[in-house]
Amino acid sequence: MKQEIEKPTLSVDCPSCKTSIQWTEKFPERPFCSVRCKNNDFIGWANEEQRIAGSSSYDDIFSESEFSDS
Ligand SMILES: [Zn+2]
Repeated sequence: MKQEIEKPTLSVDCPSCKTSIQWTEKFPERPFCSVRCKNNDFIGWANEEQRIAGSSSYDDIFSESEFSDS
C-alpha cells in the first residue's frame, strides 16, 4: 500500500514588502513575491552601498576627534 505524504509548503516573507508567500512554483521570484519586489531590493542594496561609501557620519566622527584633540 502506497501512502502519499503531502509536502508541507514552506512559506517565507518577501524581503522587500514582507508579504508572506509560499515556496512554490507559483512564486518564481521567491523569496520575493514579485519581479517588482526583486528589482526594488536590488535598487535598495545599491543605494545602501552608496550611502555607506559616501557616509558623512564617519567624517563627523573624525572631525569631532580632531576638534577635541586641539
Ligand atoms: Zn514583495
